[in-house]
Amino acid sequence: MICPKCGTDNENGKTVCGKCGTFLYRYTQNRRPLSRAQRRKEVASNWKQALKGTFYALLILFALTLVLFIISLILGNILPDSLFEGLIDPSATLPG
Ligand SMILES: [Zn+2]
Repeated sequence: MICPKCGTDNENGKTVCGKCGTFLYRYTQNRRPLSRAQRRKEVASNWKQALKGTFYALLILFALTLVLFIISLILGNILPDSLFEGLIDPSATLPG
């Protein structure tokens, strides 16, 4: 692949020019100029992917919260209450 900046012929598969360090993939990706409609489509697809990623991240977060909640429920049922006695002082009052 010929570097668009310095003209060095780089091996195929390289993403950075071996001589000047210019990124090559950017130029291969946008070798032919995109039409307005294509660009809009690409932007829409980028947004879609970003939303998808956000959705999955939230889903995982929700699932983890649920799992922790279930675990705490199970532990709350298994562990005797006497285990937690003394951890909280019932005679303590809030300041003020
Ligand atoms: Zn170069």
